[in-house]
Amino acid sequence: MSNGKSPFVKKTVACPVCGSQAENRFIMPKSYLEKTVESDRHVSAYKWMDEEFNKYHPPFYHFWHCHACKYTASQRDFLKPGEDVNSNFNALKKIYLQLKPTQKQITQLLGSEVNYDQMNFKIALNLHLLAIYIQELVTVDIRDTNKIASYCLRTGWLIREQTGKEDPDGLWAEYKNFLAKLVKLWPEVPSSETECMLKAAKYFEEAYQSHPRYSDIVQATDLMILIAEIYLRAGDVNLAMKSLTNVMQAGQKFRAAQSELMRKEKEAGKLTMTRKAQIDAQGSRINVLMEKAGDMRQEIIKIRITQQEPKAKAVVAKLEQSGMDPEAIREKLKELNFEPALIIKLLGEPKKKKFLGLF
Ligand SMILES: [Zn+2]
Repeated sequence: MSNGKSPFVKKTVACPVCGSQAENRFIMPKSYLEKTVESDRHVSAYKWMDEEFNKYHPPFYHFWHCHACKYTASQRDFLKPGEDVNSNFNALKKIYLQLKPTQKQITQLLGSEVNYDQMNFKIALNLHLLAIYIQELVTVDIRDTNKIASYCLRTGWLIREQTGKEDPDGLWAEYKNFLAKLVKLWPEVPSSETECMLKAAKYFEEAYQSHPRYSDIVQATDLMILIAEIYLRAGDVNLAMKSLTNVMQAGQKFRAAQSELMRKEKEAGKLTMTRKAQIDAQGSRINVLMEKAGDMRQEIIKIRITQQEPKAKAVVAKLEQSGMDPEAIREKLKELNFEPALIIKLLGEPKKKKFLGLF
């Protein structure tokens, strides 16, 4: 820029893998606000404190890169590798230093044009895919599922932004040609927003099962809701619903276990005020999340009803014409897996069986 103004701080550090000096940059803290955030946590609008920086898109600068060996990772992982619980960095580094020819070809292909001074959608997407590719080099059993999931999610967001703006510079159209070549070397490369979302959800589901971060019930519940949001984005309503059902069940189980725990501690005279407050606080956080999951389920049911209604109406009309009895039609609709609320909408509440008791 002519006046030399920039939101970046440049930093040269040794690449954690090959040791070469790598110049990278980060955005000065507090130089922008996240203005609007979508349901899957995608920041869809930023506000720079200085309007001169409007042309910079913060997510483009998320990953750090080594020009020498093409190693790419988030700033945090680049600066402080191996600090996470159960970090697989040492294993990853060993593999990365002895890449097979095809693997090398992929990292070269994705890393050949990285230039932070000319940053654009294409370079940013290259860096995102490279970061995913590198994380997936280690065997499945030691992959950092949570990290790969979040990288995939970010990649999906980039593609969403570009396609949402209708590909103004034609870079997505160009990129799709490149992906056609890349997929021959890397068959599992996520090549669309939906593929990124599904890959993110799959890895998050694995993280939910085994990642240390989610041994905490609040974090785990929050994650299941995010997974549901991601599945909705990917258009898979059934898997979204499954994830939400999981939230409800896990939440109910947790609440039951908590009251049992409190009862036991009280009996043993160990339930102090502090301890009780602690358990209550966790309980109310779970309640908030369960309520959110419940609301999402209601929303999904509404969508399903809208989708199913024309077909259900046609079925009802046909069965009525054939002279079928209303309660038999109700049974038939249940068999066909129409939403219970839709069946009531079309046929009314089922007739209560007469209670032949005292009255
Ligand atoms: Zn390097």
